[in-house]
Amino acid sequence: MNLILMGLPGAGKGTQAEKIVQKYQIPHISTGDMFRQAIKDGTELGLKAKSYMDKGELVPDEVTVGIVRERLSKSDCQAGFLLDGFPRTVQQAESLDQILNDLNKKIDYCIHINVDKNILMERLTGRRICKSCGATYHLVFNPPQVANTCDKCGGELYQRPDDHAETVQNRLDVNVKQMKPLLDFYASKDVLKTINGVQEINKVFEEIDKLLAGLK
Ligand SMILES: [Zn+2]
Repeated sequence: MNLILMGLPGAGKGTQAEKIVQKYQIPHISTGDMFRQAIKDGTELGLKAKSYMDKGELVPDEVTVGIVRERLSKSDCQAGFLLDGFPRTVQQAESLDQILNDLNKKIDYCIHINVDKNILMERLTGRRICKSCGATYHLVFNPPQVANTCDKCGGELYQRPDDHAETVQNRLDVNVKQMKPLLDFYASKDVLKTINGVQEINKVFEEIDKLLAGLK
């Protein structure tokens, strides 16, 4: 089974990815891991990617796509793979199609874990951290017993700048804008499967699992 996993920050993509690869024993291929491995292996493309990263520059598409090609050609992808974080643009999606075509493969499903933006806001802005001991809380999912006070040490809780509403809103907007054309792309290929991400973690996985069971 050849899968792509998509979802906005906070949608639970990482958690579901773990469950999928564990149950179906396919490699979880994230862009970050792929780059790290190629650099570690010292492949030509890995070294090229590194030279851009060292300069703080964006790795050009041709290098990224080349690394994806190398990765998907490895034997552990024979029975399938789960792509996470790639493709990021329709152009990359088209390159991916080309790679898979050359390898005599195709994408079975692009799984989109769908969570309403307002709910993501709640999930992503609710985190609070203790100034004294670093313990983490969540206003909705793991609230402290006394407002703004650490249960463990009585310290004051604060919100990281990354978790501020404006920052989160901005991050979500950027991601929505980036993801939308990809969802349209895979919908047009009839492989887009939208999963309701506003349920318990295990329920979300049950839905995905049902879908994947049909591929075996
Ligand atoms: Zn504390």
